[in-house]
Order: sequence, then structure tokens, then C-alpha cells
Amino acid sequence: MPAVTVEDTTTLPRVPLPAPRTVRRRTRSVTTAPSGFEGEGFPVRRAFAGVDLRDLDPFLHMDQMGEVEYAPGEPKGTSWHPHRGFETVTYIIDGTFEHADSHGGGGTISNGDTQWMTAGGGVLHIERPPEHLVASGGLFHGLQLWVNLPRAQKWVEPRYQDLRADASVLLASADAGAFLRVIAGDVAGHRGPGSTYTPMAMVHATVSPGATLDLPWDPSFNALVYVLSGAGSVGIDAAPVRTGQLAVLGPGDTVTVRGAVHQESRTPALDVVVLGGRPIREPIAMYGPFVMNTRQEVVDAFDDFRAGRLGSVPALRVPHDTVRGETGQ
Ligand code: MN
Repeated sequence: MPAVTVEDTTTLPRVPLPAPRTVRRRTRSVTTAPSGFEGEGFPVRRAFAGVDLRDLDPFLHMDQMGEVEYAPGEPKGTSWHPHRGFETVTYIIDGTFEHADSHGGGGTISNGDTQWMTAGGGVLHIERPPEHLVASGGLFHGLQLWVNLPRAQKWVEPRYQDLRADASVLLASADAGAFLRVIAGDVAGHRGPGSTYTPMAMVHATVSPGATLDLPWDPSFNALVYVLSGAGSVGIDAAPVRTGQLAVLGPGDTVTVRGAVHQESRTPALDVVVLGGRPIREPIAMYGPFVMNTRQEVVDAFDDFRAGRLGSVPALRVPHDTVRGETGQ
């Protein structure tokens, strides 16, 4: 169960019903995320695996981290590693994560908080659970999304945004059957707290069994619906989706998500993340932790990293002193 929830959705501002001539988007594909391990070995689902980058644009990669109940001593993170040319967005649904980077950004995020790191021209960072959580174990569930930067902004100064859970804009669907947390972008005139170089929107929705969410969606944005947990259907064509599946939708101005009437008892509602952004439409050269426009720029990034030009590990915050370049996280 997500940490951010409300007792009574009817008290929240409502998203209006779609206009009579609204175009509900149709499902173009449904893919199932394969499971793997990241960093020092925490379980992830690779949400975008098998989907063409042109359909994801401006998004590149997304991992669902957990949901996992760690035993004491077990929680895992990453070692220090570099990034250049894009932004990482880490949304913690349940649990706690710590972040530190070579540009002075960092902090602890938990239970509905989001951190937004713009790698820009280059940064080193580390992401891991705090010591006390390693000792105690506990529930951990989150997302990490990679958002591309256009060529003109790949060299911007690194930036760190700390978005607290209480800054998310909370809304309800027209009949209050769905609960929305707007993390970035604009939904029916309600703007979430995340500030992005590339125009985009990110919404975490909990849809009750049998309820229908009609989400107004910028027609210039693409639309992706990823199922964190539960079962339901997506699009005007009502394509069935379940935990760990991604639906790519076609053009239109409304994203439709329905919660199945029958849910498994361990997932009482349908939880989805809806993503959309304005496509950048530039060549993508993506390898490991670097996302550039040409292969030579990726080679240069590895050279710059080896030469220490992407920053250095801050002396006072060295929890693990290894620096790895090969991890994708
Ligand atoms: Mn990283």
C-alpha cells in the first residue's frame, strides 16, 4: 500500500469529466517488464524493456524497485557511479532512500517523496538505504525514471530537487473513484511540484475496483501507463493490464484507466503511474550511465569519467569508496 493515501477522496479537488468531443487514447502496445537486480542486488522490474525509444521519448528507462520486504541486514543500494546527459527521477512509494552526489546535492527521501537529479554535463552519485534501515530491514518500493535532455541542455549545470510528499498535488477523479498524486506537470490546471527541462507530466493514480479514471492529458505529450500493482484495463479499447505491465497509448487528449472489479487481496486497488512528455526527436546514443546524441559523445563521457572530469566523491560522505562506471542505475 502506498504511504501517501487519504481517508476520503471525496474531499479532494476533482478532475472534470472529459468534454463531449474528447478523444480517448487507444492502446498501441502492452509489454511485460522482466525482473532483474540493480546496484548491489536490489530487485527491479525493467518497465520499458522491449519498447522502442521513439515510443518512450522523452523517457528512456524506468525501474520499479521492489516492492520488497527486506530482512534485517539485507537492504541494498548502489555504489558511486556517474551520469551525463539526462535526469533521474526517484519516487519512493514506501520506505527510505538516501542520495548524495558530487555536486553537493543529496538528502533522504521516504514515503511519497521524490528526488529529481539533473545530471546535465556530469555528476557522480550514490543511492542507498540509510544505515538504520539496513539494520532493521523493512518495506521498500519505489521507481526510478530517466528523462532525456535535449541536445541544447545536455551540458547544463547539475541540479538537485527535493520534492516532499506533502508537495504532491492530490486530486480525485470526477466520481472520486480514483486518487491522484501529481508529481510533475499539469493535470486539469493543477500543477505538481517537479520542475523539468523537458515538458512532461507524472501522476501516480490509485483506481478503486470497478472505477474509471478519465485523465485529461496534453495532446502534444505521449502517454505511458505502467502498472505498479493490481489489475484493470487501459485506453478506449480497454486493453487488459496487470502488475508489471506497460501500456503505450496513441494520440488523443484523455488517458482512460479502469480498475478491475476483482483484485487480488494483497493488491486491493489498481496502482498505476501515468507518464507523458513532449518528444525530443533527436538521435539517442545511450550506453550504461550516459545518454548522448552520438556514439563519440558517449566515448568522450567515459574518457571524462576516467579522467575525473565528472566530479569526485565527496571526502566526508564516503559510505562505500568504490566508483563504478558500468552500472546502468
Ligand atoms: Mn544513478
